[in-house]
Amino acid sequence: MAPPGHRRARAATLVATLFVLVILALAAGLLPIASRAIPFSTMTANAAALMGQPPAEGAPASPAPDTADQPEKPAQTWDFGDDEDEDVPSFAQDLRAQVRDIGLMTAYLMLAFVSFFRKSTALKYVTFAASIGYIGFYKSQLMSIVNVFGLFGGNLPVFRYNLAWYLLAAVTLVSTVLWGRVYCGRICAFGALTQTLDVIIPPRFRVDVPRAIEKRASYIKYGILAFALAFFLVTKNPLIYPYIEPFWMFGIYGRSAGMWVGLAILLTATLFIRNLYCRFLCPLGAFLGLISFATVFRIKRWSECSTCRICQKACEWGAIEGPAILKTECVRCDDCERLYADEKKCPHHLIIIRKADILARRAARPSPVA
Ligand code: SF4
Ligand code: SF4
Ligand code: SF4
Repeated sequence: MAPPGHRRARAATLVATLFVLVILALAAGLLPIASRAIPFSTMTANAAALMGQPPAEGAPASPAPDTADQPEKPAQTWDFGDDEDEDVPSFAQDLRAQVRDIGLMTAYLMLAFVSFFRKSTALKYVTFAASIGYIGFYKSQLMSIVNVFGLFGGNLPVFRYNLAWYLLAAVTLVSTVLWGRVYCGRICAFGALTQTLDVIIPPRFRVDVPRAIEKRASYIKYGILAFALAFFLVTKNPLIYPYIEPFWMFGIYGRSAGMWVGLAILLTATLFIRNLYCRFLCPLGAFLGLISFATVFRIKRWSECSTCRICQKACEWGAIEGPAILKTECVRCDDCERLYADEKKCPHHLIIIRKADILARRAARPSPVA
């Protein structure tokens, strides 16, 4: 039977191949008309505002504007030709127009999951770079507390105009149920940015938060989530989000000087305290953490983990307590999983190798002459 690492690699290759085939099929049938692609932000005016993005030109407004208070248009005698000529695009046309967008998103998600399944550090950092560039600055479309508001308030982006967004949202939800907060560990552009900062800053500059404080501080994000949801449900106003999420930084428009100063302070503090925002403050991370209680495929542990503390010390997210993995805090960064499989560092393997060595030496000893 193939070892688990090989099985994972094969599964990842199979999934990647399927994704490629889907993209090729889409491209073969639909690309010739993709030049009519509508911009990503062709979402409803409401949803665009909720997502912190300006609505695209010509984007349909939802809900329909109330015309009761508006001045009446002057009557236009014999001028109804435009209305009759106006074509309402079919769903297939909208789908074709978004092929490029869907293809790019699919390719990005493939990269993220191949890096996740292969447990490759190099690929992880390639994914981070792609996340910051593509999900962050290019699309400026991270999952957000606004989407949680949308779930509770029934105001999500219009499906037919936002297929790539729905792909990202579905992958986020399904992967969280299957493996935990993979979205945080691989896909989120802000998380990718802070994890990349971690590598750039020499460890001697870092402040290690004592375990007791770290544990208590990790509850703050649940408090922020509860407060933000209550605020939204009472006021129906989603515009609290720029004050509790810094994701607007990728869209670089329309924020006050005070907010940029706040962001600079947050990022500077993150240089010294690893993943500060993600570990202690992010309401979306808290929301995904709650879903992670249902994680199906959990991180494996050896019996030796109950006394060994190597992984606990290595985890930068405070997600290991003795032998237990705290599902709500774990972002599936792979660090402990690499140690789990490391035959030179993990005591489980070292003990087995040592036992085998002793047995081999005993067997090699000449048996006493009778
Ligand atoms: S905790 Fe928040 S900011 Fe951090 S990676 Fe997760 S969603 Fe992104
Ligand atoms: S190094 Fe091995 S034994 Fe130690 S905690 Fe990690 S997986 Fe467990
Ligand atoms: S080191 Fe392990 S427990 Fe900690 S966040 Fe990474 S995958 Fe999760």
